[in-house]
Amino acid sequence: MVINMASNSTEAQLQHVIDRIKECGFTPHVTRGSERAIVAAVGSGGNRSALEALKAAPGVEDVVPIAHPFKLVSRQTRSGRTCVQVGEVCIGGDEAVVIAGPCSVESREQLFSTARGIKAAGASMLRGGAYKPRTSPYDFQGLGVEALRLLSEVRKETGLPVVTEVMSTEDIDVISEHADMLQIGARNMQNFALLRQLAKVNKPILLKRGPSANVKEWLLAAEYLLAGGNPNVVLCERGIKTFETEMRNTLDLAAVALVRELSHLPVIVDPSHGTGRRDLIQPASRAALAIGADGLIIEVHPCPERAMSDGAQSLNLEEFAKVMASLSAPLRLVATAAVAHA
Ligand code: PEP
Ligand code: MN
Repeated sequence: MVINMASNSTEAQLQHVIDRIKECGFTPHVTRGSERAIVAAVGSGGNRSALEALKAAPGVEDVVPIAHPFKLVSRQTRSGRTCVQVGEVCIGGDEAVVIAGPCSVESREQLFSTARGIKAAGASMLRGGAYKPRTSPYDFQGLGVEALRLLSEVRKETGLPVVTEVMSTEDIDVISEHADMLQIGARNMQNFALLRQLAKVNKPILLKRGPSANVKEWLLAAEYLLAGGNPNVVLCERGIKTFETEMRNTLDLAAVALVRELSHLPVIVDPSHGTGRRDLIQPASRAALAIGADGLIIEVHPCPERAMSDGAQSLNLEEFAKVMASLSAPLRLVATAAVAHA
């Protein structure tokens, strides 16, 4: 943090700021300019928010952060990339991982046919919602424990590790019995009670970005999990709210590249919620891998027109197989200007 003193501040006010910086656990470095003094507060173990409060101290014009507020998720803490192990699957390794499955678990037949189909097409993990965060209370809310049992059974048959959403702290234990990875949905990204509890769970976490969260808030939500003792966190970009109305959300792919610069955690992309449009799943998936995503999570349903949630953005099995096949196709050639010969 840098504390900018006002041009008319007094020596006593400057001394007070220096004293407070020391009290907060940082080392003050004063630079006196011709018009004003600035004080850099250096160190990592101190109380940042107490320093921010110096904005209210007499003679202080502004307090400007110069370092990121997150620590454990930061690349400064860990320069190599983290691989999060989910069963046999490593997310964040050399190969991109594709997770696929229905928005909601609806029935045994729907779940098993989807799981078999996505496995045959090459997916490595199965998704399926048992507890659904729905905008309207009149919409399908998920099958709950019945869906969890079906997810367990289908894992046994296919060997595919399962990820499913936890909406409430009271469901953590039962979901942990059945799932291999727990998803924190976009709407719960800043549910701090849930984050604190999931930090204590011995399961990897898929942390979706909130629809209105900036990258700093997203990484601070992940910081809650790491700081509370769970190092196995995968981030998921799933689109944010913007003024655009042709798509459900705006898929912020540049944030994927940015997060990979800022953090060692793996980051995957959800083009289904990110666009809300099945016609955009293939190009958005290819773009996500091109920009560096460690994987994808894609909604697939054996008959999207009958899906009880998110049918419009779900692919059928044939379409999913085509998307899978397209993922390794090379990007287009780039025209190169003719080289002038002397
Ligand atoms: C989902 O994965 O079905 C879901 C509800 O996702 P999000 O939290 O990203 O909206
Ligand atoms: Mn969905």
